[in-house]
Amino acid sequence: QPTAAPLASLAREEQEAFLAAKREEYAALQAEGLTLDLTRGKPSSAQLDLSDALLHLPTTTKDRSGADVRNYGGLEGLTELREIFADLLGVEVAQVVCGGNSSLTMMHDTLVHLLLHGAPESPRPWKDEPVVKFVCPVPGYDRHFTMLADLGIEMVTVDMREDGPDAEAVAALVADDPSIKGMWIVPTYANPTGSVCSQEVAARLMSMPTAAPDFRVFWDNAYAFHHLTEEEAKSADALSLASASGHPDRPVMFASTSKITFAGAGVAVLATSVANKTWFLRHRAMASIGPDKINHLRHVEFFGSPDGVLEHMRRHREIIAPKFAAVDEALTTALGGLGIATWTRPTGGYFVNLDVLDGTATRVVRLAKEAGIALTPAGSAFPHGRDPHDRNIRLAPTFPGLAEVRTAMAGVATCVALAAAEQLVG
Ligand code: PLP
Repeated sequence: QPTAAPLASLAREEQEAFLAAKREEYAALQAEGLTLDLTRGKPSSAQLDLSDALLHLPTTTKDRSGADVRNYGGLEGLTELREIFADLLGVEVAQVVCGGNSSLTMMHDTLVHLLLHGAPESPRPWKDEPVVKFVCPVPGYDRHFTMLADLGIEMVTVDMREDGPDAEAVAALVADDPSIKGMWIVPTYANPTGSVCSQEVAARLMSMPTAAPDFRVFWDNAYAFHHLTEEEAKSADALSLASASGHPDRPVMFASTSKITFAGAGVAVLATSVANKTWFLRHRAMASIGPDKINHLRHVEFFGSPDGVLEHMRRHREIIAPKFAAVDEALTTALGGLGIATWTRPTGGYFVNLDVLDGTATRVVRLAKEAGIALTPAGSAFPHGRDPHDRNIRLAPTFPGLAEVRTAMAGVATCVALAAAEQLVG
């Protein structure tokens, strides 16, 4: 039976008894023959249903200016949608591009343009540098890391803290190394830690001197409006902070409606200095004659206003907040006080960050798999999938139903306790 005393402090026989109990619990779990999946941060069908009205929109084929949205053109996206996102993201309309359905694609395009052509102020295209490196706060988003690895960009890690990346560590790295050309950050309700970057940390990142003259911050605000409580965090004001400190072209902000409307058919947004935007569109014009403006118009009609987006997000919250509460409850009930795991209680975003006893994350994920519970592979929140402590597990509770989240998390807690007991008893 679980005990409130730390497992490591128990006498040897008590630890052995705990291990035996967990082995039994695990055997019972396996006998249940579950098939549950907590791997990816996907909206559930109930969340997707919230946006079904989109399937019957738009009601017209003309945008506000009278242009036919069915035709080519309008590379920077529909002005009325850009206005909504400018307001929500706290930037100027002139700084915003609305694109296709994926912000990840816009990040990839931006990186590829930097590699092939360089930024306007780059001494040469990044591909002609002997080495290009990015600073990556960890734990972080696996797709950022796999994208960098795929493009041959090296990764240097810094710790992600409650108020954002360790800005002093970043500042020290970028000050003298001109091969460090950029960094990634998920500023609001970070994937997977749920951290919210403070205005102070953002100010440091935007103002710090960098050896590279063309340093870029990929400000991936994927979860800017994805609040889980009534206390709605406000994102730091990256673009204003950057221009106030003399580096207007440093940040490139990304967002999307993937987890607002449809993950497969939303709208992605990029916001950056007008100079950067002009540069981005110049290269984009070689690849597109214009985005899907029917989808843009559909989103404008569906939301109506920036407030419409925020109202819509509250309906998401009603569906997913109970799932996050269920994760916390299951972990607290089974593991509270044992000293073998810590986890986040995020106030927004899509993930819970679970840190288990050092050296046991891989074992926990394997045990869960063998009991029919799919978890994100251990280490995936680190570059090249290598968690130096083998302790980090990302939990994504939005997709399964509430009852399934409860069952899955009780099972995960059993696996965490079993792996810890195995390690302690040896
Ligand atoms: N950025 C972060 C931090 C994410 O967690 C995700 C999805 O999980 C994305 C971007 C993907 O965004 P999009 O669907 O707009 O490509």
